[in-house]
Amino acid sequence: MTIAPPRALTLDDLKARVEELGPRFRQRMRDLDAEVAFPFENFAEAAEAGLHTLCLPEEYGGAGLWLPGNYSGWYELLERLAYWDTNTAQLLQVHNHAAGIISWHSTPSQRDHFLPRIADGAFCASLGSEAHLYENGAEVLAAELTACDGGYRLTARKGFASVAAIATYLMVWAAVEGDEPYAERMVFAVVERDAPGVELLDDWQMLGMRSTVSCGVRFDDVFVPADHVVGEPGDWIRKDPRTFSCAYAANHIGSAQGAFDFIAGYIGDRDDLNGSEVVRVRLGRMDAKLFAARACLAATAARLDRGDDPDEVEADAVRTMHLAKDAVLSIPFEGFDLLGARACHERYPLGQMMRDARTFTLHFRDDLYVERLAEMALGRGFSAKGGRGGSTPFEGTKGQLGQAHAGA
Ligand SMILES: Cc1cc2nc3c(=O)[nH]c(=O)nc-3n(C[C@H](O)[C@H](O)[C@H](O)COP(=O)(O)OP(=O)(O)OC[C@H]3O[C@@H](n4cnc5c(N)ncnc54)[C@H](O)[C@@H]3O)c2cc1C
Repeated sequence: MTIAPPRALTLDDLKARVEELGPRFRQRMRDLDAEVAFPFENFAEAAEAGLHTLCLPEEYGGAGLWLPGNYSGWYELLERLAYWDTNTAQLLQVHNHAAGIISWHSTPSQRDHFLPRIADGAFCASLGSEAHLYENGAEVLAAELTACDGGYRLTARKGFASVAAIATYLMVWAAVEGDEPYAERMVFAVVERDAPGVELLDDWQMLGMRSTVSCGVRFDDVFVPADHVVGEPGDWIRKDPRTFSCAYAANHIGSAQGAFDFIAGYIGDRDDLNGSEVVRVRLGRMDAKLFAARACLAATAARLDRGDDPDEVEADAVRTMHLAKDAVLSIPFEGFDLLGARACHERYPLGQMMRDARTFTLHFRDDLYVERLAEMALGRGFSAKGGRGGSTPFEGTKGQLGQAHAGA
């Protein structure tokens, strides 16, 4: 007897599920933030709704998003998730991206091993960053796999590991030994969180994005079987055109819309405020800013769907992310000017939205993105995967590495 694979959910089904779950995510947001608690309940409900299989191929029961020809829907879903709670959206973004990376780079037998388990509810974290919360100093990517009998050994420390709190698989961005630049030696080591030598650190005491519990993780001489190393060295930069940029933008736009709707609702309830032309002008400007960012995201996602040149599309994604960051940083902050001091009361979500936006937008600083656009305008070129940027973990230098920002 053959078992038919589960029917893939349509994008409309998935959108409806997000709208059903979203209000509950919003309701829990404040307590989770106050307690710095991982949204376990949200994740259980998200998995029940199939939101953990968004970037798995359809033949493994996934929605087949973030794959050639099928990008736009992924960003539409992320935007709506972030509208309700940016933390849960960011976590589902990381898990689904990691699942999508494992799907793309695995051998057929690795796919048959990992993908059904992920479809069955094994969550994935994505550990690229080596920025350590209790240390200052330049972030240097050093995680290296040392060959041994049957596989590799890994001694490393990663930081900012979103999803680690619930993950079965820690997908570690690590290099194999060699003299080439790090990015050219890089593979994905899929380490089980319960493997001997893995330790989650209690270091996530943050201004915002508190319920992501993106803690540090220490790997002490951990054995990684050869069949848990996904991809050939350098495949991320050579064989995978995908980046994370539009996903960040989608999250920021959704969060900004959440803040905007709160602001508009508050103003709508107060005749003294909605009767003021000054207030209405500023609200109208916010509305237009959101429209601009969203329109750019849709246009960039459509280019991805069409399969346009990856470097050109990534430049558009960076432009989009600049506009999205501007919207999510300015709208909650300026909203307080319109609403006044009482809106700072903790029963309202605007303060948390502002803290979350300030924290999440720092995953890679906007100045460094727009500088890349300036370099391009000056005729110095632009490469989606070959330079420093939100989706390229490393500068093209040998050994010494730039800011890491993989995986988020
Ligand atoms: C909420 C959240 C979740 C995250 N989740 C994940 C995750 O799941 N997985 C993961 O791998 N990573 C994750 N990250 C980490 C992220 O990818 C970065 O590694 C981390 O944010 C870097 O920390 P930092 O800004 O202190 O680093 P630094 O690189 O030390 O940056 C410090 C400052 O220096 C600036 N700077 C850096 N280089 C230059 C330069 N050349 N010139 C001028 N200024 C420079 C930066 O812009 C920044 O302002 C997450 C980050 C956040 C905020």
